[in-house]
Formats: sequence, C-alpha cells, structure tokens
Amino acid sequence: MKYRIIPVTPFQQNCTLFWCEQTGEAAVVDPGGDVERILNAVEEEGVRLTKVLLTHGHLDHVGGTADLVARLKLPVEGPAEQDRFWIEGLAQQCAMFGFDPVAGFEPDRWLVDGDEVSVGDVKLSVIHCPGHTPGHVVFYDQESAVAQVGDVLFAGSIGRTDFPQGDHATLIRSIKERLLPLGDDVDFIPGHGPMSTLGDERRTNPFLR
Ligand SMILES: [Zn+2]
Repeated sequence: MKYRIIPVTPFQQNCTLFWCEQTGEAAVVDPGGDVERILNAVEEEGVRLTKVLLTHGHLDHVGGTADLVARLKLPVEGPAEQDRFWIEGLAQQCAMFGFDPVAGFEPDRWLVDGDEVSVGDVKLSVIHCPGHTPGHVVFYDQESAVAQVGDVLFAGSIGRTDFPQGDHATLIRSIKERLLPLGDDVDFIPGHGPMSTLGDERRTNPFLR
C-alpha cells in the first residue's frame, strides 16, 4: 500500500489517498472537503479512485463525500452504523461548525468489527473503536503495518469525547484493547496532526498512562 496525506477543511483533517501498487486502484479515506484538492492528488499520483472509506461521521471527515460520489459514482464504505445519527445530522453539523452546507448521503456499506475492505490487492481490517463517536472504525493494513485511525488517537493526544454519545472510558478501552495490541511498530495516520507509531504512544502518550 502506498499513501499520500491530504489535509482538508479549516480543521486540517488528514484525508488519505492510498492505493494498490499492483493494480493502481485507490481509495480515499475521510474526504472531509476540498474535493478539488483530493482529485488533483488522484491525478498527480496517476491512480484510479474506486471507493470512499469513512472512519466516522464527523463533518470534517465526511463533508466532501456526497460531492465525490456525485462526480465519480463511488461506493462508500463505513463507518459503523452507530454513527448514522452523525451522518443524518450533517446539516446541523455544518451550522454548528460554521461550514457551508453540504449534501447528505447514505453509506453503501456499514462496517462492523472484523470486516475486511479491499482496494485492489490491498486488504484492510476493520476495527471498531468507539469512544470519540459510537460508530468509529479504524482501517488497518497488516502487510504494510499502517493503521488509519481517524480521531481515536493522535500523536501525544486522543480524540475528544465531549460530543453526543462520546465516552472517555470507552475510548481508552478501544485504544488499549483494540489498537495497541496491533504492535509497537505499527505506524498510524491520525485524523489530525503528524503520524506516530503505536509504540511511541504506548510509551509516552499522557492519556494512556
Ligand atoms: Zn471526529
């Protein structure tokens, strides 16, 4: 798996374009907005976009989805259905965060823990990690040891849990029981900020003491 991080929206959300080197098929994870920038990256990398993957239903992660789907007729996979209320509430999220209104959408496939998502020959494991939102999922590529963790875990921090149906204890449990066991050497792409490894966070993240 090769990938390129594309910060989008005023929140500098790490939208990720990744692709299978064998087939050239690509997916975009969390297209929160700035769709032109995402499409430019697709063109620059010379890959073929085949699906949209979503970690959770927050606006800065999903806001560009309807636009992308309208242009390219892409299937949308994720998050878990517990985040349906966030996606159905996109209009309220736009008002709350001061974003221009975006079109709504319904994922073609709600994901559950243990599912597999494929992009060309790349197979990603789906890990349900609730806490930041109830339907948050993480995408893990065992072959390259890279996890795309959305707003579960950041370098030196963790996701907020003060939103509706957020829960701090649940988030900590998700990180400790579902993410960290993937191994210290796993690199992860967070929803915001720089990349890190699970080992660095296990050892130094103040929220995981
Ligand atoms: Zn979020």
